[in-house]
Amino acid sequence: MKKNIEKPELLLPAGSLSKLKTAFLYGADAVYAGTPEMSLRAKSHFHTEEMEEGIRFAHDAGKKVYLALNLFSHNKDIERLGFFIKTLKSLNPDGVIVSDPGIFQYVKKEIPSMPLHISTQANVCSRLTTDFWKNMGAKLCVLGREVSFREACEIREKCRDIKLEIFIHGAMCISYSGRCLMSAFMASRSANQGICAHSCRWKYKSRLVMEEELRPGEYLTMEEDEHGSYILNSKDLCLMQKLDKILQTGFDSLKIEGRNKSQYYVAQTARVYRKAIDDYFENAANWTSGLYMEELKTLQNRGYTTGFFDGIPDSGAQDYDDTSSKSSWRNIGYVKENKDGYLIVDLRNKIQKGDKIELLSPYKFEPETIIIDKMYDGFDGSPTETIAPGRENQTVKIPINPKTSALFPKLTVLRAFAGGKL
Ligand code: SF4
Repeated sequence: MKKNIEKPELLLPAGSLSKLKTAFLYGADAVYAGTPEMSLRAKSHFHTEEMEEGIRFAHDAGKKVYLALNLFSHNKDIERLGFFIKTLKSLNPDGVIVSDPGIFQYVKKEIPSMPLHISTQANVCSRLTTDFWKNMGAKLCVLGREVSFREACEIREKCRDIKLEIFIHGAMCISYSGRCLMSAFMASRSANQGICAHSCRWKYKSRLVMEEELRPGEYLTMEEDEHGSYILNSKDLCLMQKLDKILQTGFDSLKIEGRNKSQYYVAQTARVYRKAIDDYFENAANWTSGLYMEELKTLQNRGYTTGFFDGIPDSGAQDYDDTSSKSSWRNIGYVKENKDGYLIVDLRNKIQKGDKIELLSPYKFEPETIIIDKMYDGFDGSPTETIAPGRENQTVKIPINPKTSALFPKLTVLRAFAGGKL
């Protein structure tokens, strides 16, 4: 490994206060989040008071929180900006993520000391653009997911005085980093206002007829079969197999996508990338990605692709047949409380007696397996053989060995093999 390369920041999404705490528990250095009214995740579950608590929690632990203010403004949004500025001043995050140059200028004028990060939505894809934002006073640019590794290295080389962030994991838009009108057109939900309906994941029946300019009347027909096609469905980005190259390059921040994803996703991506990065810095010569890849396959995923890392992706980056998850695992939920010899688990999927459950401790990498031989309904404490998350806030009480109990604090996540038995 090259000398003087610093460990990059591991940056996780936080779609709620609980996910923010989970990300830090499992090893994130920083999170990005937004309140529904300010960011491109209109479904964010943060309220301003929770954000205050989250930022305090992070700062007490020596970690960072960046707030997204990455909507593309229309005139109607301008009158709300005064309120956002007031909120930002009171929250005092470690940086603000913006995409709209107008909003950049507004925040810079109102809060000159606030570090400004340029969102992936702004499509920073070249050293010229990076240089532009540096000259405008930005502290960091998130490179567009359409930038190849070779291009990113060149930007790193030529633009030394600005921090660079790259995406290493998460969903990919079929369109240019979210610059997409599909959802607005088909569902009246604008992706650029944070309410994307994921129209690119829908199943399409298409019949396309093309006529070449110099061959009038000769029609070329392209048709899907009787099942239709997921013609726009990109696989998910995963750069674990390229992580060693990335770590040698000196990027400042490695970002994981997914503010709407589950608690399990946040915990698992944080702990796996945390370990992979730490292991690489511990012993670069012997680092391989195999162990970590196996763990990442337990996440709900549409199949993995390295996206634009090696240049323009081929058709292998798409899954035309299916948009369902390739994972054989299911997310069981997370620990709401660990007390008196029981884990109170906020349930996300059905479990039954005899299931083998894996607990992912934030304090050790190997999962701890337990077999469910007794469990109790969290509502009335009655013994149960099978339980599913039908009711809101459904919990289940699972006995835990007192000798290992301390390994599984509040927010520990649990998983099971999809068939129930491992
Ligand atoms: S419809 Fe698909 S491609 Fe368009 S913004 Fe939404 S997720 Fe991205």
